[in-house]
Amino acid sequence: MPVSRREFLKRGAAAGLAAAAPLPGAIAAPAVRRSAAAQPVVVSSMNGNWYKNGGPVTCVEKAYAQMTAGGDVLDALIAGVNLLELDPEEDSVGYGGLPNADGVVQLDSCCMHGPRRRAGGVAALEGVRTPSKVARAVMDQTDHHLLVGPGAQAFARGLGFAIEPDLNTAHSRQAWLEWKRRSDPKHYLDPDRRAAADRRVLDSLFEDRLLNSRVVHGTINCNGINAMAEICGVTTTSGLAWKIPGRVGDSPILGAGLYVDGAVGAAGSTGRGEANLYNLSSYLIVENLRRGMHPKDAGLDALRRVRANTVERRLRRSNGEPAFSLTFYILNARGEHAGVSMYAEDDDYRGWAGNTDRGYMKYAVCDRNGPRTVQCEALLPGVLRTES
Ligand code: ASP
Repeated sequence: MPVSRREFLKRGAAAGLAAAAPLPGAIAAPAVRRSAAAQPVVVSSMNGNWYKNGGPVTCVEKAYAQMTAGGDVLDALIAGVNLLELDPEEDSVGYGGLPNADGVVQLDSCCMHGPRRRAGGVAALEGVRTPSKVARAVMDQTDHHLLVGPGAQAFARGLGFAIEPDLNTAHSRQAWLEWKRRSDPKHYLDPDRRAAADRRVLDSLFEDRLLNSRVVHGTINCNGINAMAEICGVTTTSGLAWKIPGRVGDSPILGAGLYVDGAVGAAGSTGRGEANLYNLSSYLIVENLRRGMHPKDAGLDALRRVRANTVERRLRRSNGEPAFSLTFYILNARGEHAGVSMYAEDDDYRGWAGNTDRGYMKYAVCDRNGPRTVQCEALLPGVLRTES
């Protein structure tokens, strides 16, 4: 007997979308361990428990409250990261994010909805403060997964997003102007000279208090699971400060900056995007979860892969180890979670997102015990200090 659309939707809702029977002839997703219920939790990069955009709550608090009040998990996470995208004080995400080498703020974001098996992303998007909402619109309103540059902006304009001529704040503009003035403005130096020049400029900007920390990248990744074990994730960033215009890192790329399998878990990243892109680590981590690894082990395994693939001298310290930070935020379908980082401490993170005297690599959590920021599990001991 034919089933009306309304009846189909009603039955789907009653059965729970994630548990819907596969359509005849459909290729089954790989078998997984699926918990019927989970402890609700939201995890994110540490900035998710720091910035409030002038309001009373942080990203993880907001997302957790909205999610546990019955809201769609992805809606809740996006509402959370919107706080950072809109906060002019947060200079690694959205409005006020540090701009590219031409002084233009270009934003990247993607999101994945586990139960619905949908995903969307935008890259090098200019003029919209909340790229995560545009990523969500790509997911909901198109047959595509990724729109970039002017195409992404035209899409957003068409949907009624406000397009602003400039997303710089006084702070981000001043930092860029000084970067330009103090560094070699030619952008295609050989990488060693460029890194040394950038380092000198960064040190001087930090010493002159034009930057709160030496972190000139930064992102928020935020993942959540509700009591019905529905898992979603979102990542949003202004990317690497003073990047070559058009440079896109890991953040908007499915499998790199974020990966969600609604029956298995979620992983997302912050840190050196190129290292993550090369290894598609978020995908690897979720596959590790599928094989039964705990989030911590799944993440450390991916960091080991990144470490093994870091062979270029300019990317290694004198002891041969990676000369950059990379951090993953992971949760599985039982609500177990972990933050894993290449190093326990990175000097550049002193002063970033509530870090004070030390550059601890942490992650944010909100569950029934409330919001907190906890230390990540590190692959390598000690502190990452830049060597000149
Ligand atoms: N992963 C981001 C990028 O490479 C930057 C960051 O998270 O620090 O664009």
